[in-house]
Amino acid sequence: MYDIIIVGSGPAGTSTALHLAQIAPHLAERTLVLERGRHPRPKLCGGGLLQDGEAILRRLGLDVTALPHQDVLTARFHFEDRQLPIRRAPVSFRVFERPRLDAWLVRAMLEQGVTLHEDTPVRSVHPNGACVEVLTDQGTYQGHVVVGADGSNSITRRAVTREPGQVARLLKFVVPPGDPVVTPARQTEADFDFSIIPWGSQGYAWDFPMLVDGEPARNQGIYDTRYYPDAPHGNLPGMLRQITEKRGLELDDYHVKGHPIRGFSPQAPLAMPRVLLVGDAAGTDPCFGEGIPFSLAYGELAAQEIAAAFDGDDFSFAGYQRRVLRSALGRNLMRRYRLGRVLYRLRHPRWQRLLWGPLGPAMRWIIEHRLIDWAR
Ligand SMILES: Cc1cc2nc3c(=O)[nH]c(=O)nc-3n(C[C@H](O)[C@H](O)[C@H](O)COP(=O)(O)OP(=O)(O)OC[C@H]3O[C@@H](n4cnc5c(N)ncnc54)[C@H](O)[C@@H]3O)c2cc1C
Repeated sequence: MYDIIIVGSGPAGTSTALHLAQIAPHLAERTLVLERGRHPRPKLCGGGLLQDGEAILRRLGLDVTALPHQDVLTARFHFEDRQLPIRRAPVSFRVFERPRLDAWLVRAMLEQGVTLHEDTPVRSVHPNGACVEVLTDQGTYQGHVVVGADGSNSITRRAVTREPGQVARLLKFVVPPGDPVVTPARQTEADFDFSIIPWGSQGYAWDFPMLVDGEPARNQGIYDTRYYPDAPHGNLPGMLRQITEKRGLELDDYHVKGHPIRGFSPQAPLAMPRVLLVGDAAGTDPCFGEGIPFSLAYGELAAQEIAAAFDGDDFSFAGYQRRVLRSALGRNLMRRYRLGRVLYRLRHPRWQRLLWGPLGPAMRWIIEHRLIDWAR
C-alpha cells in the first residue's frame, strides 16, 4: 500500500514525483513509481527539447544543459522550396539522447527519496472507491492515488476513458556518426518539412542533428497527426522512403521504428476519482508532436492536485481537467490543437506554399509569440 503510485517513469512520471518532492516532500517519500523497463531504457523520440522544458527543469533545480546534447541554432520550417528559418537565442532547441535524459531525471527523482520498481509492467488499474488496485506481473499494489504516466499506449488511461482521441503515427531512424550526410555545416540546423502534406500526410518529416555517444549524427522521421481520419491517406513508410530519397538516403540502409503520440483533445477526460493522467497518457502537442515540455508541465499540475487532495481529504480530482485547461500548459495545447486543425486542413500545395512563403512572417509570429516560451 502506497499513498501515491505513478505508473511510468518518462518525463511525465518523473516530473510528477520531482514536483511532489518540491511542494510536499512527506508525500514524495510515500510515492512508488512502477516502470516496465529498466533505465536507461530505449525510448523512440527525436530528443528535441525546447527552452520551455529547460525552464520547468530549472525551477526544479535541474540544469539539463549539463547532459551531452546537440545545440540547434536554426529550425527551418519549409514546404518544397519555400523556407521559414527561425533562430532563437541562445539556441532554438537542444537535442538529447532520450534514454540518457530520462535516466538522468530518474536519478534526480531517486535522490528525493521516491521509490522506483523497474521491470514491473502494469497490466491493469482498478479504482474501487477507497483505493486503486494496480495489477502487475510482480503482484498487486494499492494506492490512495494513481498517476497514469505510462505514455501513449497507457494502460491507466483505460480506467479513465475508452475515448481513443487523436493518435499521431511516427516513424524514426538514426543516421549514425560517420554517414556522409552528417556534415559539420548542417550540424546546428533542424528541418521540419511539410512537403509531404500533398502526398497524403497530415504532418511533416523532420531531420534533426544529434549526438550518439558524443559523435555527430542525425535523426530523421515522419509525423502524421491524423487530425482528419477520413481524409485520403498516404502510406507512411512509402512517404518516408520518398522524402529520404530526396535527401540522398536509401531507407533500407537504416533501422526504422514506429511509435504513436497521443494528441491533446479538449474533450478527453484527464481524471476520475483517485486517478490522474499526465503526459502522453493525457495528450500532448497534437500539432507538432512536441511532448517533453508538456509532459514535464503536466507533472507540476498533477503534483499540486495531489498535494491539495491529501490536504483536503478529497480525492475526486473533479477540478483537475478545468485547472489543466486554464493553465499555461492547457492554453498552449489548445492553441496548438486549433492551429493543427487549420494547418492540416489546408492540404492543397497552393495553401502550403502560401503559408511557408508569403504568409511566412505571420507563421513566424504565431510560432514565436503564441506557441513557444509558454513555460518560461
Ligand atoms: C518518434 C517520436 C519522436 C518524438 N520527438 C520529440 C521531440 O523531438 N521533442 C519532444 O518534445 N517530443 C517528442 N516526442 C514526444 C515525446 O517523446 C513524448 O511526448 C514524451 O516522451 C511523453 O512523455 P511521457 O512521460 O508521457 O511518456 P513516455 O516518455 O512514453 O514514458 C512512459 C513510461 O512509462 C513506461 N510504461 C509504459 N507502459 C507501462 C506499463 N504498462 N507499466 C509500467 N510502465 C509503463 C514506459 O516504459 C516509459 O518509461 C516524440 C515522440 C515520438 C514517438
